[in-house]
Amino acid sequence: ALTIGIVGLPNVGKSTLFNALTENDVLAANYPFATIEPNVGIVELPDERLQVLAGIFGSERILPATVSFVDIAGIVKGASEGEGLGNQFLANIRESDAIAQVVRAFTDDDVVHVGGKVDPAGDMEIINTELMLADLQTLEKALVRYEKEVKGKKLDPGVLQAAMDARALLSAGTTLSAAGFDAAPIRELGLLSAKPFIYVFNVDEGVLGDADRMDELAALVAPAKAVFLDAKIESELIGLDATDAAELLASTGQTESGLHQLARIGFDTLGLQTYLTAGPKESRAWTIGKGWKAPQAAGVIHTDFEKGFIKAEVISFDDLVACGSVAEARSKGKARIEGKDYVMQDGDVVEFRFNV
Ligand code: GDP
Repeated sequence: ALTIGIVGLPNVGKSTLFNALTENDVLAANYPFATIEPNVGIVELPDERLQVLAGIFGSERILPATVSFVDIAGIVKGASEGEGLGNQFLANIRESDAIAQVVRAFTDDDVVHVGGKVDPAGDMEIINTELMLADLQTLEKALVRYEKEVKGKKLDPGVLQAAMDARALLSAGTTLSAAGFDAAPIRELGLLSAKPFIYVFNVDEGVLGDADRMDELAALVAPAKAVFLDAKIESELIGLDATDAAELLASTGQTESGLHQLARIGFDTLGLQTYLTAGPKESRAWTIGKGWKAPQAAGVIHTDFEKGFIKAEVISFDDLVACGSVAEARSKGKARIEGKDYVMQDGDVVEFRFNV
């Protein structure tokens, strides 16, 4: 499964947030046989459509899609030179598919800031500089090899060019993802700053209802996505029942918990989407990549579904709700039969037909 690595300077609230992520862990309940690594937290992707489907189909249970987060030990200035947990840290980030950077924006004199003052922009620069320096080191090594291989006609010159372009961007002080750099030709290098970024601003409670302040912070990282949360409130929310949690959220001016925001934006940043299945046993969301075709999507349920794919009966969620039942949707012509070239759409409620 794709994972999002959580990084940030020490004392910005990573552990607090990560504890909320793991306590919220749904995996133990829904997937009892899964092994859970201690540094992995799994959050459900909130999807109200599943409750609606469960109502229509009388489903016994609901299984939302999930997003996995990996806690990556604190980064410090000098990490790219192997300082502190530097090397281990970089190896862990390399394995993540996206990076969520927790940034301290909360003021609390009792919590020491490693840089001496609360400075979101400065903190992000420290982290991003370490990632960029690590990438430059990777590139310098690779370029020596690439140049030899191109001379020996063993490598596509386009790969060398991509590496040179990446080095130029990094030398000019921009992360590769912020520059919109296409790292596909040099994917093997696992460049850190080319991964999709999400910024998680850990703010004072009062900021959660302050659109101007949030816009200001979001502007620092645009076009990357920003999530705003108060890690302390997130950890309190975990212990509450639905009604109390909704009340606490409302009192902070939020409509959705920070964890759920993070799950939604993380899911999207990873390039993922879902399709839905429903029946008396369960209503369920299945994770696929954006742009996937029907047989590949069927393969997520079972590899046999992909191998023996015949067709898919697809009803869009809105049509199904409007019709109230599959039978009604069929009689109104809202149930579409789609073949192997069909590109899955968000909100498709699907039943696959396949040969065994
Ligand atoms: P980490 O080093 O990034 O993992 O940071 P921690 O999660 O250990 O948090 C460092 C300290 O800041 C702890 O004392 C937390 O209780 C506190 N802290 C974390 N998030 C918040 C927050 O949103 N507001 C305030 N006031 N304190 C926080």
